[in-house]
Amino acid sequence: MSETSTTTRSAELYELAAHHLAGGVGSGTRSPRSGWLPVPVFAQSGAGPILTDVDGNEYIDYVMGQGPLILGHRPPAVTDAVVDVLRERGSLFSLAHDLEAQAARAVCERMPGVDLVRFGSSGTECVQYALRFARAFTGRELIVRVEGHYHGWSDTIHWSAHPSRETWGPPDHPAVTPESTGMAPGAGDSLIVLRWNDVDGLEAAFADYGERIAAIITEPILGNCGAIMPAPGYLERMRSIASDAGALLIFDEVLTGFRIGSGGVQGLTGVTPDLTVVAKALGAGYPVAAVGGSEAVMSLPADGRTMHGGTYNSNVLVCAAVVAACAETGRPGFYETLNARGERLAEGLVAAARAAGLDACWSGVGAMFQLWFSPAPPGDYREAHAIAARSPFFALHAYLRAHGVLIQPPQEGLFLTSAAHTDEHIDQTLAVAADAMEAVAAAVDRGDVGARGGLR
Ligand code: PMP
Repeated sequence: MSETSTTTRSAELYELAAHHLAGGVGSGTRSPRSGWLPVPVFAQSGAGPILTDVDGNEYIDYVMGQGPLILGHRPPAVTDAVVDVLRERGSLFSLAHDLEAQAARAVCERMPGVDLVRFGSSGTECVQYALRFARAFTGRELIVRVEGHYHGWSDTIHWSAHPSRETWGPPDHPAVTPESTGMAPGAGDSLIVLRWNDVDGLEAAFADYGERIAAIITEPILGNCGAIMPAPGYLERMRSIASDAGALLIFDEVLTGFRIGSGGVQGLTGVTPDLTVVAKALGAGYPVAAVGGSEAVMSLPADGRTMHGGTYNSNVLVCAAVVAACAETGRPGFYETLNARGERLAEGLVAAARAAGLDACWSGVGAMFQLWFSPAPPGDYREAHAIAARSPFFALHAYLRAHGVLIQPPQEGLFLTSAAHTDEHIDQTLAVAADAMEAVAAAVDRGDVGARGGLR
């Protein structure tokens, strides 16, 4: 682990990249705008929980590819399965093959709400299919979505994901706010935006528009705004309100599926959605996503009434990755160990912060959590936004990055752990954190608080 990191080579590569790569990075989340200051980390390689950058700095990595790397970097079982298939069979046929059904079975066996599944290459894409299937199944148009949740970048849903204070509207009637320029102007018209954990808002929306609502879509643990847990009974109420109105419930488990427990949030809570989207940890680092649900709904793509396609869908490489990754994550005790280690890290960070005189708490589960410099975690996006606005979180990120621990810079990000993080890595991280919290306390004393860029 590096003592203090240098960024010389990253800076050079960043400047060079910008000649041809728009903004010098491949995604907004990797840019200085998202808090990667002074320059983005240019990765060289990863092994287990360790990321090495082009300057030779080694980090204990809690970015974990933004979630997919549930087994760490280059897990041998998955790497071998993918390389073997590539050498012996090829990368892509865009024809039927045996590994598709094996990968599909792995998803259906694990996710309680999924009887049948289809694959795609990204979470964004499979969310689109979920919305389409819901509209086709119900013959209705409106979608209820929740402020602060991220469901991908498409025109149909990328509204009110991370709105500004100026645009978000009244708390009992949040505005439908575009998250990008260039989106189809009418695309937000079929959305109703609510606040997370707001049962009254849900009831009011269904009282007003119930017969026109095709679906509620939600991240069942809010991972794109820290890790905000559903209040007791909230998901259950969501389920019953949707069912009573003949609307579908869609769980976007892109982050939580195959990460927080064997059966995602639906397995943890017993609340079964009609449609589920999974991605990220499903493929342990390979670009694969899936949309699945009840037989009744999934008969739509099955018999071709509702279109689902894609050249790269369930190609042999990603299917080999899914089968190999699920064999690993399906081992007895896998999630218990993962979550226990993550929880120990979260508790240790809170203790270190408090020892330095800071208010601190954490939210989420061990595999996916956030640390808050506040007495209590937020209950929704607006509360998270208020905490972030006066949070010294960036000082924590900067100190850790300079001392061999990598976390996402925004307060609304996450600590993401993997099975490759051992107790020793947790101990090493906590040793760095003890000093980091002194630096954070000094930042607070200087008034050096507030966000340095959002999630994207
Ligand atoms: N839904 C959720 C909950 C996500 O976290 C993400 C990605 N962070 C997406 C959808 C979009 O997935 P992708 O980046 O694979 O398009």
